[in-house]
Order: sequence, then structure tokens, then C-alpha cells
Amino acid sequence: MPTKFILIGSGLAGGLLAAYLGRRGYEVDLYERRADPREGNIVGGRSINLAISTRGIHALEQIGIADEALQHAIPMRGRMIHDKSGALHFTPYDVDPKKCINSIGRAALNTTVIEAAQRYPNVRVHFNHKCIDVDFKTATAQFETEGGRLAVRGDAVIGVDGAFSAVRKSMQRKIDNFQYDESYLAHGYKELTIPPGPDGSWQMEKNALHIWPRKSFMMIALPNPDGSFTCTLFWEFEGPRSFASTKTDNDVRRFFDEEFPDAVPLMPTLLEDFRQNPTGSLVTVRCAPWYYRDKVCLLGDAAHAVVPFYGQGMNAAFEDCVVLDECLKKFPDDRERAFAEYFECRKENADALADLAVGNFIEMRDKTASRAFRAKKKLDHFLEAALPGVYLPLYTMVTFTRIPYAKAAQRARLQDRIVYGGLASLSILLTALLLFRLVAH
Ligand SMILES: Cc1cc2nc3c(=O)[nH]c(=O)nc-3n(C[C@H](O)[C@H](O)[C@H](O)COP(=O)(O)OP(=O)(O)OC[C@H]3O[C@@H](n4cnc5c(N)ncnc54)[C@H](O)[C@@H]3O)c2cc1C
Repeated sequence: MPTKFILIGSGLAGGLLAAYLGRRGYEVDLYERRADPREGNIVGGRSINLAISTRGIHALEQIGIADEALQHAIPMRGRMIHDKSGALHFTPYDVDPKKCINSIGRAALNTTVIEAAQRYPNVRVHFNHKCIDVDFKTATAQFETEGGRLAVRGDAVIGVDGAFSAVRKSMQRKIDNFQYDESYLAHGYKELTIPPGPDGSWQMEKNALHIWPRKSFMMIALPNPDGSFTCTLFWEFEGPRSFASTKTDNDVRRFFDEEFPDAVPLMPTLLEDFRQNPTGSLVTVRCAPWYYRDKVCLLGDAAHAVVPFYGQGMNAAFEDCVVLDECLKKFPDDRERAFAEYFECRKENADALADLAVGNFIEMRDKTASRAFRAKKKLDHFLEAALPGVYLPLYTMVTFTRIPYAKAAQRARLQDRIVYGGLASLSILLTALLLFRLVAH
């Protein structure tokens, strides 16, 4: 009998992992608490669109669905910075103009991965099944369904059920020494819309990720295939100027007029959007271990939710699928060893990504507005072109390569020490020479 995996959660990673496991010949039952997204039940509570880059695309390629998934994606070649006066500054993501990140609709991508999984006859998907508990000794998951409670037994249960994972909660309750840490940013997020222009076209540069950096907060916008942009405001929950203190339509209008004057004329539904759309929270989850014997494993946000500022949460979750698949291939008869190796390989990288993602919030909301930031990016691109394969900017390593996140962060720190140490030494030398010449005369 082939091994039977029970997967909890058919979000982005759940669908893709089911396809990988299906291809390897396992029996797979994928359970999702929501209704089928193809029936119009958009995945609520997360962003409408996301940026997919090299790691995510690689994972889709391995299963043969990259072209299908990316057919409607919109390439974004760099950051378009909007300052308060409405002036625009474009900074490309890389010295190579072909390197771009891609804006992709969450619902369409979710459907693509689920359908890829369903092409394998050994994969079955069950919607409207909410997991409420897992028995680790017997790999049995308990569900709430419309018809009542249900228990399903497999050989292993994989929690791909997102940042607020029920499988992980069971592990917290039942496994001795399970380490768990969650931290919330003081900022929340709210999605808003810039609709298409009267002729159906994009009202701002289509091939860019737009940023309105305002020091302690920011708004971003990603293009959609229908000519619209989805904007996300990242703002403090509390404080004198915050979600909490902005109560009336007048408050909202005044805040947007002051901070994003060039965007307001493009946002006819601003007040309704602001009132009706939920304010989401931003959490980083770190836990260990991500598995229990050969019975339970965590993957994607369930194992390592990160804040969205590097655009890597889904990319990392897709990379998890590739690594877990490789580990299962390496140890076909020892699932515990496969789970252990997957955890060893991914944990330090997930931790490194969590730190990078928080750091990039400060860069996006504060530093992108400055001349110094643009000069640093130009220097990065100059060094990358001058020293091909030797100098790689951190953003390039994270976004356009599959260098493990921890290695990328380590290498960037070393590069910074050499480059900025070198520049500092050079400026000291030049100042000393100048002083020497002045004294000599
Ligand atoms: C505002 C925002 C913007 C983002 N932008 C980007 C980006 O640009 N690029 C990027 O790479 N990442 C981005 N991310 C991160 C990305 O959304 C996540 O990393 C990704 O969705 C993780 O996939 P997942 O499958 O692990 O979890 P999810 O996509 O959250 O899927 C979990 C699934 O499990 C189901 N589920 C939950 N509980 C249960 C239960 N008890 N029983 C059964 N099913 C259950 C849920 O309904 C859901 O379908 C962003 C996140 C946010 C919040």
C-alpha cells in the first residue's frame, strides 16, 4: 500500500505540495476549511495579489505549471517611488533589466495549484473540512464538516494551514518542549483599489511596484491584469495618526490628501474601501521542531509565517515543497529522517528570512525615499556589473537566485563590510592626503 498523506489546508503551498506528493505516487487527501475557490470564494484575509519571483517560479517549473500560472502575471521591473509632491523616482530591481518580480492574483494561482494536484488520480481534495485536532500517535485528523464531525487516519499529517495553523496548535499542546514564538508588528494593513482608467488601461506605470514611503508607514500598489492596482496601506494600529484614530470619512480623506495626494484622484472608492475592507495584522511565527516522528510535519506559513515586506512568504513556502519532495525522494523508506532533514535544511533559512522581512519594512517605508538609498542601489548595480558573479546585492540574492536565505544574508553582511570598509578607508586616505598637501603648502 502506498503511503497516505493527509494535508491540512489547500492554500498556495497545500495545493502545490499535493501535486508534488501526487507525482511521487503517494495517496494524498487534501482538506480545506473553506469552500472551493473556483466557486467564487476568494481566499479571504490575505492579499489579493502577490509578487512571485525566482524561488516560487522554480517550484512551479519543477511540476510543469509555471507557464500556466504566469500567463496573466504582470512583470514589475523596479520600485516606483511616489513622494509627497507627486514626483516619481524609478529604481530598477537589478542591473539586468530582464530580472523582474511578477504580480500574480492569489485566487488564480490557488486554483492553478489545486488543479495541478487534481490531475493526479491519487490526489483527492475535500473542501469545507475544518481541522480541529490531530492525534500524532495515529496520524489521525479530526474535522468539522457540514455533516458533523469526521476522523480521518493516514500515515502522516502535513499542516499546510497557514499562519494560524490548527496542526501547529495541536503540536503546541501535545509535544513536550515544542518551541513557539509569535511576534506582531505595531502596524496593520488594509487593501484599497485603484480601478482601471476609462479605456480599461492602467492609470500608473504598469510594470512597477509602486511605493509611497512616509517614514513610519507606507502604501504600496501592485498591478492586476484587469487594469486595476491593489494598494495596501501599512499603518500603525494605535497612536495619534493611526487606524484607531481615523474614525470618520473626513479623517480618512484628510489623511490621504495629506500623505498620498497623487493617488487620491485615482481612488474613487477610497472611502468605501477603507470602511469595508478588514484591517489585517502582520505576524512572524517561529517554532521548532517542524515535525513529530514520521507522523506530522509543518510547511509554509504554518511553520514560518513572515511579514510580507520582502515578498517572499509564498516563495519560501513553495521552496519548502521542493525541499520536502527531495528529502522524501532521498529517504523513501524513512519518513522521519526525511522530515528531519527537511527541517534541518529549512529552519535557519526561515529564521533568516523572518529577519530580512522585518528589516525590509524599514527600508521600504523609510529609506526608499532618500537620495542615499538611490545612490546605494546605483553603487550596488555598478558593483554587480563590474564584478559579475562576485558581488551580488542582497535583494538580488533573495529575489533572483535560489541561494539559501541564511547564506544570502551572511554574504551580504560580508560584502557590506568590504565595500563600506573600503570606502571608509579610501575617504580617510583622501582626507589625509588633502590635509598633508594643505600643511605642505
Ligand atoms: C498582505 C500580504 C501580502 C503578501 N505578499 C506576498 C508577496 O508579495 N509574495 C510572497 O511570496 N508572499 C506574500 N505574502 C505571504 C503569503 O501570503 C504566504 O506566505 C502564503 O500564502 C503562505 O502559503 P500557505 O499555503 O502556507 O498558507 P495560506 O496561503 O494562508 O493557506 C493556508 C490554507 O489553510 C486553510 N486552513 C487554515 N486553517 C485550516 C483548518 N483548521 N482546517 C483546514 N484548512 C485550514 C486556509 O483556509 C488556507 O486555504 C503576503 C502576505 C500578506 C499578509
